[in-house]
Amino acid sequence: MARHAFRFAPSPNGLLHLGHAYSALLNWRMAKAEDARFLVRIEDTDITRCTIAHAAQILDDLAWLGLGWEEPVRVQSEHFADYEENISRLWAMDAVYPCFCSRKESLAHAREEKDPDGVPLYGGTCRNLSRDEAERRIAAGEQYGWRLKASGDTALWGDAVIAKPRVGSWYHIAVVTDDHLQGITHVVRGKDIEAATPLHIKLQKLLGFATPLYTHHDLIRDEAGDKLSKSAGSPSLLSLRQNGVTAEKVRAELGFG
Ligand code: GLU
Repeated sequence: MARHAFRFAPSPNGLLHLGHAYSALLNWRMAKAEDARFLVRIEDTDITRCTIAHAAQILDDLAWLGLGWEEPVRVQSEHFADYEENISRLWAMDAVYPCFCSRKESLAHAREEKDPDGVPLYGGTCRNLSRDEAERRIAAGEQYGWRLKASGDTALWGDAVIAKPRVGSWYHIAVVTDDHLQGITHVVRGKDIEAATPLHIKLQKLLGFATPLYTHHDLIRDEAGDKLSKSAGSPSLLSLRQNGVTAEKVRAELGFG
């Protein structure tokens, strides 16, 4: 039987904070405990927000924390062809369709219900465009997103956008593609992403991929009980380091002492 595999998959659109450190340490410890593989993956498909400098800093911070991972690190921006290929497969089976509506148009024709992010569900304007028409509009350079046709478990999202090729947003299809290609058996990530998991499982089923075991851990919160984030001014690991906080102290504070 193949060895179990865990991964930590940060997006380099900023510096890591204690919440990321917790998630990385948790995956690493779980992997260690059962002699499983531990991988780090850089999720930088959004080239408007991600930078090489942040990616390099993230790896440096993780090494500082005492983590070791398998090389080479998979960097998503080097693998767009893999994501495109899986989108094509999904389109061929009529599970997805390209949607050309702007945010404003989508909202104007939206349904009453809202998705887990609070956005009204898409009304389906582009669901029945002919393939010829869709291909013509893509070739003409229009902006578009790929929507996954809602069904059963994913109904809470309506027809969810799983990739927006022209703005470099590939999250759902990229995560599913890479977890499959890298043989990930255990996905351990924050509760903030839990609502996306049914979408990922649905994509795995459609594409014939095995579904990993999913665990969603609690989020590390600040003293006011708020989720840590760059926008809330949570200290980065880098700034803690620069202020003389040791990796031992960070690990101990997060319960990995
Ligand atoms: N790249 C995602 C993030 O940083 C996490 C993806 C995942 O763990 O599935 O929020």
